[in-house]
Amino acid sequence: MKSTKIVATIGPATETEETIGKLIDAGMNVARFNTKHSTPEWHRERMLRVRKVAREKGVAVGILLDLQGPEIRINTPHQTVFQVEEGDSVAVLPDGTEFDGEEALFIPKVVVDALQIDSHVLIDDGLGEFIVTDKDAHSVTITALSSFPVSHRKTLNTPGTNINMPSLIEADFAQLEGLDPTLIDFVGLSFVRDEHDIAVLRSELEKRNITAQVVAKIENQKAIDNIESIVVATDVVMIARGDLAVEVPFEQLTHWQKVIIQLCRVHARPVIVATQMLKSMVENPRPTRAEVSDVANAVYDGTDAIMLSEETTIGRYPVKAVKTQSQIASYNEQFVEPQQLNVRKRSTAAYITEYAVKILEESRKPENTLRIDHIVVLTESGKTARLLTRYRPHQTVHVLTSTQSTYDKLSVQYGVTPHKIVLPNNEQLESSHDLILLIESLGIAAKGESIMLVHGTHWKIPGLTNTLSVLTVPEKDTHV
Ligand code: PGA
Ligand code: MN
Repeated sequence: MKSTKIVATIGPATETEETIGKLIDAGMNVARFNTKHSTPEWHRERMLRVRKVAREKGVAVGILLDLQGPEIRINTPHQTVFQVEEGDSVAVLPDGTEFDGEEALFIPKVVVDALQIDSHVLIDDGLGEFIVTDKDAHSVTITALSSFPVSHRKTLNTPGTNINMPSLIEADFAQLEGLDPTLIDFVGLSFVRDEHDIAVLRSELEKRNITAQVVAKIENQKAIDNIESIVVATDVVMIARGDLAVEVPFEQLTHWQKVIIQLCRVHARPVIVATQMLKSMVENPRPTRAEVSDVANAVYDGTDAIMLSEETTIGRYPVKAVKTQSQIASYNEQFVEPQQLNVRKRSTAAYITEYAVKILEESRKPENTLRIDHIVVLTESGKTARLLTRYRPHQTVHVLTSTQSTYDKLSVQYGVTPHKIVLPNNEQLESSHDLILLIESLGIAAKGESIMLVHGTHWKIPGLTNTLSVLTVPEKDTHV
């Protein structure tokens, strides 16, 4: 079974229940909704479809509402396109400024004010590259470093320039307004700069009783500068390479991907590698060699999840793209060795999970006779599962939980297969015999197989994981 999780963005190419079902069968674990496009109603309708199909299939599929955040887009006079040649200068004015010429750019005033002489300005994913060559009280002038057609509504990045914009925009609040609090599992925070941005989103979610986890999207230098405090403050991290690769020098991208993944594992935060993993599959049925390597290398880096954007929103081969990621991940995962992590252990659970993985790996060696066929973790918060899988053990980690939202949120976690169970009322751990029967009835283990169990004394009380045991499913049903 595939351990790396796949986040696929839902769009016009994948919006029907039938296609959503095919995406799940192909290996999609989280459905992402990119609010840069479409209305809140459009997204909600499709989220309900994802929930319905996932429940019918009995698999955990998370739902990620990815907020737009303070993205900068340019306006052109009369919304036209105009061509600039290398060395041409263009005026950049605050949105709403009176102007009767043909060639200028309009952007928010805070951005114009933040730009200084020699600042870099990139348009449309860096295809247009400019330098600020003049500045007065109200505007700046930028000069093109190569020829480029400037068109309305393209994105603009300002690498190295900090802009003091709020982390959530009007449109983001509209997406959260009136939302069924249980419909989403994850909320994407674009252009996060520091832990304060995360606190702001958390308080907006709390006000609306939304219990979704925060996905901090690392997409500029400021986030890189504050990376450790962001990783600690957030629930999940996305390496948002689309913007990151234009906000920092592109030769640094691979380095930061590795650094961020490692940091996320040390702090037991799931991490997603995003953007253009299989871009050519928007048009073609097969990936390029570079794309195959990119997906495989993300797996070797130890990522939890890999993502698809246009490949599944508007691509010609959305289901094939998910299958392609699944195939590349499943093959390469077998060569990913569990890693020693230099972690500060603050809880019994941190010790127990580390030793659980050591025992599991030892039991795989032919010279050792203790055989462990399966690992089962009981957790209501999901934390024990995160602590354990950060080491990337070879075995699938089966997680039993009675909490629906934990079940759905574990969808993004490497190597975890969640199972939704019904707990006894007294919240005490049932006898190990009953537990073994439950594990057997879920199809996790067969008679005669041995299971490593990691759990607490009391179910439903988070943070008390203190027990590691190895049990065998009896050959005969010993129940009398
Ligand atoms: P986006 O984020 O698709 O919302 O821009 C991902 C990225 O920048 O890579
Ligand atoms: Mn982005």
